[in-house]
Amino acid sequence: NKQVILKHYVSGYPKESDMELKNSTIKLNVPEGSNVVILKNLYLSCDPYMRGRMKKTEGSYIDSFTPGSPITGFGVAKVLESGDSNFQKGDLVWGMTGWEEYSIVTPTQNNLFKINDKDVPLSYYTGILGMPRMTAYGETVFVSAASRAVGQLVGQFAKMLGCYVVGSAGSKEKVDLLKSKFEFDEAFNYKEEHDLDAALKRYFPDGIDIYFENVGGKMLDAVLLNMKLHGRIVACGMISQYNLEQTEGVHNLFYLISKRIRMEGFIIFDYFHLYSKYLEMIIPKIKAGNVVYVEDVVEGLENAPTALVGLFSGHNIGKQVVMVSSE
Ligand code: NDP
Repeated sequence: NKQVILKHYVSGYPKESDMELKNSTIKLNVPEGSNVVILKNLYLSCDPYMRGRMKKTEGSYIDSFTPGSPITGFGVAKVLESGDSNFQKGDLVWGMTGWEEYSIVTPTQNNLFKINDKDVPLSYYTGILGMPRMTAYGETVFVSAASRAVGQLVGQFAKMLGCYVVGSAGSKEKVDLLKSKFEFDEAFNYKEEHDLDAALKRYFPDGIDIYFENVGGKMLDAVLLNMKLHGRIVACGMISQYNLEQTEGVHNLFYLISKRIRMEGFIIFDYFHLYSKYLEMIIPKIKAGNVVYVEDVVEGLENAPTALVGLFSGHNIGKQVVMVSSE
């Protein structure tokens, strides 16, 4: 069983060398009386929150990885054997699994969902039909990290709800994609803007109603200056802070008060009960071609560390997925 192991806790930017590929043996049968499920992993999801799990944290909404053990994350898999009556051999599932060829999981602990609709690409269950999906289900106006897994969907859902949507991203290619493919009204490359405040004023001369926050740091500071009175900030993630030993200070926080802005964080795990409703809404839209969804799929478990590390330098265009096996 080929596995990607986290060697040690990480400080600063994660590197490929923080992980290693190992071989282990695994018994592919369910012990008598056990309710575990044996999975053959097909697709693995690379997500920014995994950086937080590479260090020792307490009181977080999700446990740290265990050094010396395989990395875990969301993925799509096939059931080889099942000790749980809700899952049968041959079922396709998505949920928390290991960065390895085969995993033994407990369905209730691993949030395993059975995949019923199979005539969409299976890798979509790591993204638009998996965890980053409902993260983006809401309304928005300004979206940072807009070309990625969450951002591309946030923008499209906001457009469906009739909003004026502007996104920021880190390269010309991504900015073009936002405007041409994802139909954002406007987009800009934050790396080329010396003055983020001026950039936001260009696109929002009357201010921002809703900001979907993915990056934090300097961008959040500039956005606070440009929010409208009674604006709302959906605090989804702050990727610019994940690799810093000392997080950057936000200087403009006082505007939360003077502009009566509401800023609220959320964690997608609180919304799993809405999953079937979300599928009812989104699957017909995917099949009718009404949502655009871009993935960046690399092949081979051995390429998983590079894919994960690449998130933090913006290598991925769209949702980063690792294909372990196609069936
Ligand atoms: P992706 O993995 O798809 O993309 C990561 C992207 O972030 C990179 O491609 C890069 O693009 C951008 N980025 C990296 N470093 C920086 C930086 N220093 N400043 C600005 N942008 C940077 O991300 P997701 O769409 O999956 O996740 C987006 C955010 O949503 C993250 O903050 C994540 O933690 C959060 N999240 C929160 C959830 C929740 O439940 N609250 C659930 C899922 C995600 P670029 O070229 O544009 O710089």
